[in-house]
Amino acid sequence: MADADLIAPGSVWLVGAGPGDPDLLTRKAERLIRQASVIFHDALVGPGVLELVPCHVRLVSVGKRSGRHSKDQKAIDALIVEAALAGERVVRLKGGDPAIFGRATEELDACRAAGVPVRVCPGVTAASAAAASLGMSLTLRGLARRLTLVTAHARAGEDLDLDWQALADPQATLAIYMGKAAAPAVSARLIAAGLAPDTPVVLVESASLAQERHFATRLDLLPLAARTALGDGPAVILVGRSVAAFEAIEHPRHAARAEPG
Ligand code: SAH
Repeated sequence: MADADLIAPGSVWLVGAGPGDPDLLTRKAERLIRQASVIFHDALVGPGVLELVPCHVRLVSVGKRSGRHSKDQKAIDALIVEAALAGERVVRLKGGDPAIFGRATEELDACRAAGVPVRVCPGVTAASAAAASLGMSLTLRGLARRLTLVTAHARAGEDLDLDWQALADPQATLAIYMGKAAAPAVSARLIAAGLAPDTPVVLVESASLAQERHFATRLDLLPLAARTALGDGPAVILVGRSVAAFEAIEHPRHAARAEPG
């Protein structure tokens, strides 16, 4: 069957590229990637996903990784709108799910303000990919009734503005995005707000990619683990009693463990 057109000339799709493994793309995302005339992608989009881009499609990196130079958000918004107004079939390819810490609102607003039709294709978010790799559930009957996705990224020179009291919930799983640099503050503030120092924590770096790494630790040892156990890939930090279930099925080949001491 011919691939029906999902993407009209002059329109934009914000597409979730998932955590990196191209097998975790939705079928819709793959179709959109093949139908685009131009793709603007983030640094976090996996190389295997970019390999699916047909060679006639213009591929533009607008990537940002913390600390490295990148186009600012307004410039990205303008690029997307300009391409659509020029009649291109525009795909804005973003790591994970575009609607989770993905600056989707800015891009949706920019398109709408310019009268450009825009839609969103969801993707597998990092926390889901991390839990899947670990063979664990992010929610757990009776133990983790709530899942909180939180970013621990603060603007340079600013304190982390989070409701620590609400986050220090022993019945929740916390999935912390962009949390490596803030790990010392996260650990100290959660413990100060009442979360037990021995609350299980797992750091998952480059979930779903060949270079994926896991590190199991506890909340009070999180700063040490974030500093020493990870490389420079993106990492999500999972905190909570649901994470202890991972320890039981820990994969000896991949995982290391920090002991208190
Ligand atoms: N929209 C993305 C999140 C973008 S924010 C999503 O839904 O996943 C970028 C942060 O996401 C990174 O700092 C890291 O915390 C997390 N992240 C993205 N890809 C990841 C991966 N493959 N493994 C672990 N964490 C990842």
